[in-house]
Amino acid sequence: MSEPTPPFPASGWIEVIVGSMYSGKTEELIRRLRRAQIARQKVEIFKPGIDDRYARDAIVSHSELRIPSRSVREAGDILRYAHEAQVIGIDEGQFLGPGLVRVCERLARRGKRVIVAGLDQDYRGKPFDPMPQLLAIAEYITKTLAICVVCGNPANRTYRKVRRGGLVVVGGADLYEARCRRCFELGRRVSAPESPSPPGGSDETSPVRPRQRKPRPRRRPRRGMRKKG
Ligand code: ADP
Ligand code: ZN
Repeated sequence: MSEPTPPFPASGWIEVIVGSMYSGKTEELIRRLRRAQIARQKVEIFKPGIDDRYARDAIVSHSELRIPSRSVREAGDILRYAHEAQVIGIDEGQFLGPGLVRVCERLARRGKRVIVAGLDQDYRGKPFDPMPQLLAIAEYITKTLAICVVCGNPANRTYRKVRRGGLVVVGGADLYEARCRRCFELGRRVSAPESPSPPGGSDETSPVRPRQRKPRPRRRPRRGMRKKG
């Protein structure tokens, strides 16, 4: 007699890996996916087509680990290729739009293990949709940290070195660096505009380093308060 089958498939879950650029999100995603492959699980791996910085058909980490992947235009495309998969890996989730949340929920409901890596903050230090929404519904969350290139402290921010474009400007070390909270804020105070300049507008290409703050001149006591001699 065959095993009784449950009336519904086993539940899946969502794992989210977030942090700044260079914090090791992709390395961690690749590590988990490789282990699943070693265990002979059926794994499907996706990334947004917009991110073809290092390869079109592979996820590549800054330390040059790589794993074959499929490029998709939008989150909904993932559903078309995920039927057979037990494990689904998605890199650069912040570029896949708000639909990614519903897609991940549907996949988890179908019993799949869904692992999404992405930036939790944009270059302004603001939450980068839809990663905050994914963090809210995930079963497992990992926050990775880079090393601040200015001071060496743990870095959780991605600093854009040039004044260029809007929210999404895909780039690597030429455009972005990892910074801690303090060095990020110092850099922005001396360089970046609060609202991005329009395309074709000011386009400064030299990296902007945080300037040392000038020592404040010592305030002299006000006249009325000066002691008469
Ligand atoms: P992410 O996906 O978070 O951008 P990756 O996994 O692609 O990160 O790359 C992590 C690797 O980046 C590190 O192992 C290291 O080799 C390299 N790296 C470059 N700059 C830094 C930095 N400032 N801090 C930490 N790692 C860095
Ligand atoms: Zn720092």
